[in-house]
Amino acid sequence: MNLERLLKELDVIREGHFLLSSGLHSGVYFEKFRLLENPQYLPVFTHEIANHFKSYSISRVAAPTLGGMLIAYEVARELNTRAIYVEEVHGKRVLRRGFTIEKREPILVVDDVMTTGQSLSSVIEVIETNGGVIAGIGVLIDRSDGVSFPYPFFAVITKRVTNYTPDACPLCKQGVPLETPGGIS
Ligand SMILES: [Zn+2]
Repeated sequence: MNLERLLKELDVIREGHFLLSSGLHSGVYFEKFRLLENPQYLPVFTHEIANHFKSYSISRVAAPTLGGMLIAYEVARELNTRAIYVEEVHGKRVLRRGFTIEKREPILVVDDVMTTGQSLSSVIEVIETNGGVIAGIGVLIDRSDGVSFPYPFFAVITKRVTNYTPDACPLCKQGVPLETPGGIS
């Protein structure tokens, strides 16, 4: 199965002219919730992450809320381990709900779409502060501009997307109507 084509069919990858939350314009937009709403298809993608890291002795699978929770849950299910969710409170990532991390516990960090890598960085910081060890990072879609981490990294789909300032946007020049999609990540 061609996974990128499947994402287009599900309307996860949309092409057009979009205003991003950063204020930049882009010809491509990722609506991850078109995949997260589909229990039939999400495991097809999370399986790729679980399969990649199956030999890594993962003790737990961590993710930032909100969308990342479903990724962590599915990957943890396949790796026969547990998930841990790192919430954001007043702009800071924290462990709540009685979640704890054991010293030197090897943890796989996952997320849905990686754009700036900021969410992953904040989860990594929480895990390391609590004594855990980052065993790897797995994401569904890497749409970053080449963000990298000093840990084993795997993306199911890598899609380099050029964003434009409004002044330099070729789509604006062509007069393509600008769309403001919801749920930008
Ligand atoms: Zn534009």
